[in-house]
Amino acid sequence: MVDRAAQSKSHDICRICRSTNLHEYLDLGRTPLANSYLRAEDLQVPEFKEELKLQVCTDCGLSQLTKVVNPDLMFRNYLYVSSTPKTFRDHCVELAKTSVAMAGCRKGEWVLDIASNDGCLLSKFRDLEMSVVGVDPAENLAAEANQSGIPTLCDYWSTTAAESVLRRFGRPRIITATNVLGHTDDLHEFVRAVDHCLDPAGIFVLECPYVLDFIEKNEFDTAYHEHLSYLAIHPLRMLMEEHGFAVCNVQYFHEIHGGTIRVFVGRSGRHPVDSNVALYLKKEEAFGIQTIEPYEAFRGRVEGTKEKLLSLLGRLQAGGKAMWAYGASAKGNTLTNYFGITKDLIPVVIDDNPKKWGWYTPGSHMRITGIDELVSSRVDYLLLLAWNFQTEIKHRCRMIKYPGDFIVPVPEAKIIR
Ligand SMILES: [Zn+2]
Repeated sequence: MVDRAAQSKSHDICRICRSTNLHEYLDLGRTPLANSYLRAEDLQVPEFKEELKLQVCTDCGLSQLTKVVNPDLMFRNYLYVSSTPKTFRDHCVELAKTSVAMAGCRKGEWVLDIASNDGCLLSKFRDLEMSVVGVDPAENLAAEANQSGIPTLCDYWSTTAAESVLRRFGRPRIITATNVLGHTDDLHEFVRAVDHCLDPAGIFVLECPYVLDFIEKNEFDTAYHEHLSYLAIHPLRMLMEEHGFAVCNVQYFHEIHGGTIRVFVGRSGRHPVDSNVALYLKKEEAFGIQTIEPYEAFRGRVEGTKEKLLSLLGRLQAGGKAMWAYGASAKGNTLTNYFGITKDLIPVVIDDNPKKWGWYTPGSHMRITGIDELVSSRVDYLLLLAWNFQTEIKHRCRMIKYPGDFIVPVPEAKIIR
């Protein structure tokens, strides 16, 4: 068992503005790491667990976890592969085209993707005849990307990694970072490293889930230990300005990860600033991003959702209904662990990623399998843990003639026939 004291640390100052005016607003309990899937032989071994609790900085509006777990426990061997869902692949194609147009790139110029996973996004830039390089700390994914011809350094992003990109490849015109800023403890070092290697006229494009959606749509299950910060334009602008950058444009995608912002950043004064940046800042002020009220209301709604879903599942179980889940995702693990749902209630979870088949979910110990097993089993209800891909999931279930119903847990627990 991992020594808990040595593997995590408390975070009691804001990682962006360094304020100590932090207000705790949601306690999801002590849960295992959301991506620590288990082999059958590990099921008897006590799992590493840590507090999962959120706090907001009332000075800059950044939401962050109270604890930071050693990243090596979370990112060195990562089963999640971003290429899996089609929605996400299409999003990558669009992101590559938009970024190249925005930066006014010529063919052959360098694009760097930070936390490049298996190289999915970079392959879309390569299709546009850009030169590409990735950086990712997961050894298995970096190896996979290299095999498929996407040069990838296996490392965390830092000024040292930026220096080796510069030395070996050249100065990127575009740096992309999708879903990684929220996973990074030292955000100032992250941006310093971008500053270190980005072309003077280059653009830095980042994407992250939007904290306004997290709160307004009750997406509490997108909180997990890897997800250290819950971001918005307010705190991001403060972070960028400290390093001589400006937020130039913002786009919004409601269907990606439950609501995602794409933020275009360039060196101050080098690029025109679109008027929508001010609109987002205004919207966040109207939401009350630096006040405690919206967060306290969120806490109340999350507790209501827990009560409603547990009573629904309890009624179905008492009525002899067979329930499985769909989506062995990080968010599913937060939800099941916070709600106390285990294999005794839901023994099996279906996932489309074959790499996860035969493994078990952390904490709840549900067995992971492919959709084929659903064909030959009597299942009355599927709990949609990957609710953000519910259109695709329902379509797949229709294709195999699944006769049962669905339960959607978020934003509010309900049955869908
Ligand atoms: Zn702050």
